[in-house]
Amino acid sequence: MDSLQTLFKTLKVNGFHLNEKRILLITLLEDQNKFITVQKLKNLMQRSYPDISLDMIYRCLSILESFKLVYVRYNHGEKHYFLSGQLTGDLDIAYFLCEKCSKVIVLPYSFPESLLAENVNIQHCCFEIYGTCRSCSSALIQIAERKKSNNHSGDEKN
Ligand SMILES: [Zn+2]
Repeated sequence: MDSLQTLFKTLKVNGFHLNEKRILLITLLEDQNKFITVQKLKNLMQRSYPDISLDMIYRCLSILESFKLVYVRYNHGEKHYFLSGQLTGDLDIAYFLCEKCSKVIVLPYSFPESLLAENVNIQHCCFEIYGTCRSCSSALIQIAERKKSNNHSGDEKN
């Protein structure tokens, strides 16, 4: 993300202490492009910092959350984090989530005119669209075709 440097600048301006570990954590979050658990982040960070503590990761994520720079969703009661590519300071977001590989595609979003016409006070919004991404879909099709051809060759034997 070109805006990663912009994000670091924004964090610095807002008094966020950027050290090497925090920079790595944010970079890893950005690289994933999917919702990720704290434990998974810890595993990734341990490649560079074997002694990294969950506490450090939680602290950093909670600061990012307070800056509204990560989106949090719960899956089976566990928090999953996704770095918001938007630096607008609000987390009104719409995204597609692949149920197979957890890939996230952030979608352009604006409120419907019909809702805005009601003069409602919107606090927060999130639209989630679930399905399978292109690569998972083609993998599923290949599996189905392989099964089909296996079944077919089985038919020929009989
Ligand atoms: Zn997928």
